[in-house]
Amino acid sequence: MNSNPLHTPIDYLKGVGPNRADLLRKELGIHTYQDLLNFFPYRYIDKTHYYKINEVQRNSAEIQVVGKIVHLKTVAQKRGKRLVADFVDETGKMELVWFRGHKWIKESIKLNEPYVIFGKVNWYNGVFSMPHPEMELLKEHEKQMRVTMQPMYSSTETLSKRGITNRLVTKMIQQLFLENKKGFLETLPDYLRKELKLISKSEALFNIHFPQSTEKLAKAQFRLKFEELFYIQLQLLIKNMLRKQKIKGFVFDQVGTYFNDFYKNHLPFDLTNAQKRVIKEIRNDMGSGAQMNRLLQGDVGSGKTIVALMTALLAKDNEFQACLMAPTEILATQHFNGLSELCEKTDLQLALLTGSSKTSERKIIHERLENGELDILIGTHALLEDKVQFKNLGLAIIDEQHRFGVAQRAKLWKKNVIPPHILVMTATPIPRTLAMSLYGDLDISVIDELPPGRKPVKTVHRYDNNRLKVFAFIRDEIKKGRQVYVVYPLIQESETMDYKDLMDGYESIARDFPQPEFQISIVHGQMKPADKDYEMNRFANGETQIMVATTVIEVGVNVPNASVMIIESAERFGLSQLHQLRGRVGRGAEQSFCILMTGHKLSNDSKTRLETMTQTNDGFQIAEVDLKLRGPGDLMGTQQSGVLNLKIADIVKDNDILKTARFYAMQLLKNDPKLQMEENRVVNYTYQQIAKNKTLWNYIS
Ligand code: ADP
Ligand code: MG
Repeated sequence: MNSNPLHTPIDYLKGVGPNRADLLRKELGIHTYQDLLNFFPYRYIDKTHYYKINEVQRNSAEIQVVGKIVHLKTVAQKRGKRLVADFVDETGKMELVWFRGHKWIKESIKLNEPYVIFGKVNWYNGVFSMPHPEMELLKEHEKQMRVTMQPMYSSTETLSKRGITNRLVTKMIQQLFLENKKGFLETLPDYLRKELKLISKSEALFNIHFPQSTEKLAKAQFRLKFEELFYIQLQLLIKNMLRKQKIKGFVFDQVGTYFNDFYKNHLPFDLTNAQKRVIKEIRNDMGSGAQMNRLLQGDVGSGKTIVALMTALLAKDNEFQACLMAPTEILATQHFNGLSELCEKTDLQLALLTGSSKTSERKIIHERLENGELDILIGTHALLEDKVQFKNLGLAIIDEQHRFGVAQRAKLWKKNVIPPHILVMTATPIPRTLAMSLYGDLDISVIDELPPGRKPVKTVHRYDNNRLKVFAFIRDEIKKGRQVYVVYPLIQESETMDYKDLMDGYESIARDFPQPEFQISIVHGQMKPADKDYEMNRFANGETQIMVATTVIEVGVNVPNASVMIIESAERFGLSQLHQLRGRVGRGAEQSFCILMTGHKLSNDSKTRLETMTQTNDGFQIAEVDLKLRGPGDLMGTQQSGVLNLKIADIVKDNDILKTARFYAMQLLKNDPKLQMEENRVVNYTYQQIAKNKTLWNYIS
């Protein structure tokens, strides 16, 4: 009972032996019985169908035929001999061919007895021939356990060269099942299996290798995927739980004057239910005694800023300082202006610190921070400098999370002995459950509701040769008093070319929209920050009607009167970027438009991206498509977290199973956080086994 028979080295399996064991270890990382058992087929060949010879097509893949060998001959050829059998059924004739192993085949083949043969068919010299078929006497075949789908295992060149064929691997696994007739240890608790109608571990393992039917295969896959994701979720949740127990945080238990006064007297609008819920989640977190480490996801325009401010007010009520860090100077400045306006009628002290803050200003800010006069410091990376010391930083808010790395978060932590509460805000939603899997160390809040009265941005795709019509449309909108963005791609590797595109575009727009009737701003990455700000401000103040820009305006910029977003070479942008850009319009009361301009040559992926954009405004839906197009590999953090090394589940395709798994893992921990209950004994045992395993994710069974 103590020693798990599945930990037996693979050498001991009948039919393996030291040489093959070596190969299995080196080539496939299979060391033990268990490793072999968890070496799942990557596909299955349907053997439910028996072909007639007259049905065979030249492009038939692997097929199965019932017939007899009526004649066997050896044919000499340049490179050795070949053994050829005439194989017939009632509809026709074909050939079976062997280039090796003639002696054995000649001895073992029975003429004129029905065989089932299986293999790939070639068209050669006017006849169909099947080289090295798998063969079995029909009467044996009928006796066998009915394998309807043949497992195919991945292999390597070395393995095939050294004779470890798919058939051999299949045999080894069959042997494994023969030696374990009693079945395999169950790894999920009974109540879960009952509730989710999961087949047993043994049945699942058997059917994943030797599916008895397509239905059984589906059940086996579901059970094993669920199990895999369940234990991953359990690990993440437990890790998070331990973090909360270990890392003490400031207790913000006062909801006091600042928060309440603001809520009652200064809030410029009613909060959406989603905003209220999220604020409550944050309040609970910060009052809990553990350090908050929370990711706030909310689509562009969902109103994260006000949530950030209310959170900062809670800090102030508890006599702590707060900081808000943004990835660009433009954004930080906007936050500063926006928050200053909101706080106008309060006595809160705010300051802005960026790379271009003057030394004299900095000195004052540093002083006021250290003596506690400043309540909220807003800024860029400049906040991370060692010189920036707070009197008592209780809360750090980071906007647009994907621009900052984990290392930078860590730097904020170090500003205090006790780490401040951390709120990370992002407008690039990734599917919630995926986020949970990736950022196991973060709790997640979602604002899944836009403020009322927002009109969804109308999005269309236009080809470049329709530019004149598009320009006419812009002119109409400007006449109505609206403003327009025209955005060009900026891809680092070819910055000069992009710059030229931008300038060409600017000139052509300037021709069609001449001064003094029209005023145009231009902003790009090669400008000095001060010049950028100057141009941005002209646009924000309505002095210019058209803003020609590169993607520097992607994040956060807020000009409610701008109602048209033209994206040039839209096929060159990623989905989330397109969505971000579109989020710059639709911020006012007017109907807004987003026009995606492209040439005629479009890849399939580009087409999907454009279609997705024209069909939906929902950032989460867009994120799902994006994920499917790019795969999770491109998402930050996936590499490190190992979610890509899943054995059977697919983090994207099996998202529903992932959700279920997470739900049940949470339930379980709620009832039994230490995995001590009798009914969870298998969970505890399995969990320990996984923990022991050095490759965290490489577990199962
Ligand atoms: P984001 O989540 O993209 O940062 P913002 O916080 O910039 O969004 O909010 C977008 C706009 O919506 C701002 O002009 C803000 O004042 C407004 N807003 C936020 N919450 C609400 C609300 N509950 N009702 C009405 N307007 C709101
Ligand atoms: Mg924002």
